[in-house]
Amino acid sequence: MYKPEINDTTSKILKGLEEWAGESAHSSRFFEFYLKLLRIQAEAEHRAGIPAIGLGQEELNRRVLNGTSLIKMHETDIDWNYAGSIYKNLAELFMEYTDILPGFAGISDDNLPAFTAGLAQSWLDGSILVSGAEAPELEPQALATLVHHTLRPFLTGYALAFKERFNQNSWRRGHCPVCGSVPSFSYLDKEKGARYLVCSCCNTDWLFQRLDCPFCHNVEQTLLSYRTDETGLYRVYFCEKCKHYLKAVDLRKAAGDVNLGLETIITADLDRQAQELGYTSAENRLTEDPSSAL
Ligand SMILES: [Zn+2]
Ligand SMILES: [Zn+2]
Repeated sequence: MYKPEINDTTSKILKGLEEWAGESAHSSRFFEFYLKLLRIQAEAEHRAGIPAIGLGQEELNRRVLNGTSLIKMHETDIDWNYAGSIYKNLAELFMEYTDILPGFAGISDDNLPAFTAGLAQSWLDGSILVSGAEAPELEPQALATLVHHTLRPFLTGYALAFKERFNQNSWRRGHCPVCGSVPSFSYLDKEKGARYLVCSCCNTDWLFQRLDCPFCHNVEQTLLSYRTDETGLYRVYFCEKCKHYLKAVDLRKAAGDVNLGLETIITADLDRQAQELGYTSAENRLTEDPSSAL
């Protein structure tokens, strides 16, 4: 069965962002921060590699059929000590950039819970990670984002390992079949313009209905809309029911190869515009505070 030799998901995004930042003279603190983030993640991803999957095909098929995501933290062979060191490095990075990411101002060495399989699984399950009484200054969202970015370079390898084991087109749910996270991006495919969602954490993509909100499953057409940018290459889907938005790139309009992970980052202006219109991103991702000057 086909399995890629190396996992270079993040290093490809990093290379693309370095080139893009160089060509377009984008030197804002936000992209400077992202480059540092991707460098830490690329190194972790390189070291973690692509794992061997012990999950049998029958159980795998059962999880796909039931809509249960495939990764369970206690079944992985993630090196939790090493992952804990990445978590600490990322926390330090976030603390350095609280001028543009003010949500992270409450993170400190004293209030961060230890990075364990249990904490990671709680994040995957969407549970509250720490109570206000335990760590009053620590924003739950900031901790969730930190856990997300720590896990990401470990989960992209699982996404590649699982890719050939099941049919992504049969999933059709709003969350990722591999890790259960919500999508942060989407694309319309070159052939038919079918919409695929892209996981915010492990980079898996899967087929999804065009007129359906992946976050609240609203299919009421009058409550769904989208806007395209002036080039027609990008669009943003809006849901009036849950007030979430989702960015997309239309590959029928794209000239060459498109790196979806890179597109997610360099379309930060679309996030800003959607947030100014009163919509929010559904995922634990990093968006600049629209009010902060870059
Ligand atoms: Zn995923
Ligand atoms: Zn919705």
